[in-house]
Formats: sequence, structure tokens, C-alpha cells
Amino acid sequence: MARQNLTATRIKPDTAELLTLRVLRRERISPHFSRVTLGQDDVQAFTPMGFDQWFRLFIPVAENSLSRLPRTLNALSYAKYLTIAKTSRPVLRNYTVRAYRPLGPDGPELDVDFVLHGEGPAGTWAQKCARGDAVAVLDEGIGFNPAPGKNHFLLVADESGLPAIAGVLKSLPHAATGHALIELPGDEDRQDLEAPPGVEVTWLPRARGTAPGHTALAAAQALRTPEEPTHAWVVGESGLAVNLRRHWVRAGIPKNDIMFCGYWKAR
Ligand SMILES: Cc1cc2nc3c(=O)[nH]c(=O)nc-3n(C[C@H](O)[C@H](O)[C@H](O)COP(=O)(O)OP(=O)(O)OC[C@H]3O[C@@H](n4cnc5c(N)ncnc54)[C@H](O)[C@@H]3O)c2cc1C
Repeated sequence: MARQNLTATRIKPDTAELLTLRVLRRERISPHFSRVTLGQDDVQAFTPMGFDQWFRLFIPVAENSLSRLPRTLNALSYAKYLTIAKTSRPVLRNYTVRAYRPLGPDGPELDVDFVLHGEGPAGTWAQKCARGDAVAVLDEGIGFNPAPGKNHFLLVADESGLPAIAGVLKSLPHAATGHALIELPGDEDRQDLEAPPGVEVTWLPRARGTAPGHTALAAAQALRTPEEPTHAWVVGESGLAVNLRRHWVRAGIPKNDIMFCGYWKAR
């Protein structure tokens, strides 16, 4: 079964050209999160869209390796990207805009919150990158795209989706209602979130030894299925996304009102 319908439901950005950005700051914001603030170079061309806006992040692996990247990403240019030798092919991963500020000390800036999960080039880079380091980003737009008139929401994420659920909650209209369930590796990883007063936010620290996604899945399955028209959105570990989508479909939520995306896959 497909592990996402993100690309089918997303709202694309007006332009999606490769932008080079620089690390402005790096901060360890909690035990499992590093916040990297990006700006300078092409940042003026970045258009913030709110919600769960995400982008392709290219991390250089060698001197000048970003210069070999295609300006846009389609099937052909992606195939070309894959032909670059591994030793000089920038690492490609997906990340979310956690915050955008048009007026930072160095001009516009955007925050990216990286889960520090202990392995992988992106998580490792986010622990050691320094001011001035270059990356390239390709805006992919937003996945949260409810049908007009929907005002009730079920939002579920693990830590990899914390930046996305934070963006959705901040962007929702004040009158929105519903539930947001957020599973975390530990209680200290909670963040202050802006959310409409009618959306109940529940933090779900994972008990030691529990597989990622299981806590959020169980909590979401225990919720009463809403009677009002609802937009349901789940991102995070692949099993969480797939199994919760299946539960929602069985519970009677129309497939078109569900966005689900496996942000990563546990091995
Ligand atoms: C649209 C979208 C937006 C995303 N936004 C964010 C974001 O804002 N912040 C964020 O941290 N992640 C986000 N992710 C998830 C991120 O892309 C993946 O976690 C990615 O695999 C991390 O790359 P890596 O190089 O660190 O690890 P990889 O090289 O991809 O994986 C190495 C190993 O680490 C494991 N792993 C990967 N990610 C995790 C994780 N989160 N927890 C535990 N184990 C993991 C894998 O199973 C693998 O065994 C997003 C994904 C998508 C699709």
C-alpha cells in the first residue's frame, strides 16, 4: 500500500527553483532536537506558505558539490542527480519550515528543527553544522489541504512531524476545533505551540522500549470519531501513518479528507 498521499494533495509553491542558503545559527533546543537557522544568499526568493510547508534539503558532501545540482527537480533532473558519483552527490532529505521571520538580524531567516535520532547524514549534519555552511533547498509547498468549509481537525504526528504540526496549528483559523496528538521521545522535547483555543493539544512522551508511532496510534484510535465533517492529517513513522489512515477509513472518514505521509521508516 502507498505510504503517503502527500504529493497528490499538496499545494505547490508558485516557483520551485533551487535556492542556496547559509547556516546562520545552530541551537540544541531539547534533548532530541537541533534547530538550524538558514538565510542569506537566495533567501529573498523563498516564499513562506505556513502550515506544513516542506522542502528538499541538499547537504553538500564535498567542496562545490552543490554546484552540480539541477535548478529544478523533475523525473529527468532527478535521474541526472542520481548519476552524480556518490562521493560528490549532495545528500537529499525532506524537512519542514518550523518558522520563517522576514526580519532577522541577517535578513529573512527560516528555522528547521532536526530530530537527532543518532544516525543518518542529515541528523548528523544538524549536530555539527556551523555558521556560513551552505545547503540547497527546493520548496515543495504544503501538504495540509482540507476541502473548503472543514473546520474540525484530527492532527497526529511523531517527533519528525512536530515542526509540521506546529506550523499547521499556527496557521489554522482561530475558530478551528479538534485534536492534535504529538508523540515525542521524551517529555523534555515539548515545545511552546500557538494553536486555536478549540484544538486540544496532547503531548505523548514515549515510554522506554515502545516502538515509535505506537503511542500516537493508540491514542488516536481511542478518540471518538467526530460527527462533524473532519479533515484528518497524520505524519511520522511510516507504520503510524499507514495504520492510522486505515483506522480512519474504517471509522468512516472519507479517504479524500485524510492526508497521511510516512516521514521516515523504522528498521
Ligand atoms: C515532507 C517531510 C517533512 C519532514 N520534515 C522533517 C522535519 O522538519 N524534521 C525532522 O527531523 N524530520 C523531518 N522529516 C523526516 C526526515 O526526512 C527523515 O527522518 C530522514 O530520514 C532523516 O534523514 P537522516 O539522514 O537523518 O537519516 P537517514 O539516513 O534517512 O536514516 C538513517 C537511519 O535513521 C532512521 N531514522 C530516520 N529518521 C528517523 C527519525 N526521525 N527517528 C528515528 N530514526 C530515524 C532510519 O530508519 C535509518 O535506519 C520529514 C519527512 C518528510 C517526508
